[in-house]
Amino acid sequence: MLTVLTLALLGALIGSFANVVIYRLPRGESVVFPGSHCPHCGRALGALELVPVASWAALGGRCRVCKAGISARYPLVETLMALGFAALALRYPVEVYGLTVFPLLALFALLVILFAIDLDTHLLPDALTLPALGVALLGTLLYAPGSGLPTMTDALYGACLGAGVLALLNRLGALVLRRFRDTRERLWPIGMDQVNVAAPLGTLGWPFGFVGAALSLALNALTRRTLRLPELPLYALWLIAVTGLTLLRPNPLSAVSGSLVAAGGTALVGALYWWLHDLGRPTDEIAEEEDEPVAMGFGDVKLAGVLGALLGAQNLLVALSLAFVFGAVGGLIGKALGGGHVVPFGPYLVSGALAALFYGGPLVGWYLGLLGF
Ligand SMILES: [Zn+2]
Repeated sequence: MLTVLTLALLGALIGSFANVVIYRLPRGESVVFPGSHCPHCGRALGALELVPVASWAALGGRCRVCKAGISARYPLVETLMALGFAALALRYPVEVYGLTVFPLLALFALLVILFAIDLDTHLLPDALTLPALGVALLGTLLYAPGSGLPTMTDALYGACLGAGVLALLNRLGALVLRRFRDTRERLWPIGMDQVNVAAPLGTLGWPFGFVGAALSLALNALTRRTLRLPELPLYALWLIAVTGLTLLRPNPLSAVSGSLVAAGGTALVGALYWWLHDLGRPTDEIAEEEDEPVAMGFGDVKLAGVLGALLGAQNLLVALSLAFVFGAVGGLIGKALGGGHVVPFGPYLVSGALAALFYGGPLVGWYLGLLGF
């Protein structure tokens, strides 16, 4: 019980820091310096004004000096973080599962931050998603056996699968709906062309997809130019392969999963390449090259990769199903309220993943029962 309370307190403090990250990171400001200040009058905050939740409540949600209103999101994020940390500590007690809970706490904190930033800016910064992917993969080393959490191999497979679902939705969306058409996409040496090659070849088995993507990358590098491959024939081939192989094989989903894993893995390698390429470059210069933010953009591909690594393949499918249901319901409510404000997909993905993390087992059982297993 003591660890639960300690971790809840730690959660509130991290929630306080998360508020700083949510506000400053998209603005390109340092998250460390200067210390917290009132966003209206700029006055630096004293220690007593920095107590999570309590300070905000005691001051009636206003700055002590200029009396400007301070968003209720600050205490909300702190409370959410404290409750989430406590829930995880109860679900994976340190006494039983050892260090299992710590990577989960780090990932929970990162997901809450990503949720809020996506809601604010419609962006999921690489500076958060790609380190989160690293935490999710390496965190598997700390999971106790019997915790039901993925091994590193499962996590890697889940990451590729998750990224693949969103990457293929993005590509098919570009093709069919003429949405997500990125004009200033980055293509050399690695970009969407490699994903487009990996998808149809991956239907034969994911290694084939990766080999195809690697060959296409090598050709780009050798010829020092981007060999563009027409998307339409590639995805027509993909459709034929998926249909044909699904009918022929004893395991009907293997063509789809192989294709998703190869496309998603290739997309994640590309994302990692461009992130490392851009490290240390001024953000405004990069922003000029980046695509317009879209409702379901490439940030979602990386986020889905993180969620796949956190949950493993089976729970990831629960999370994605829930995310699409939440998204549909949220969209309908938004329409009913007549709001023109588009909610990005990231918050739905995060909500689905957290539901799957806590209730994945029972949900999988219920779902399989529904299918008659
Ligand atoms: Zn003020």
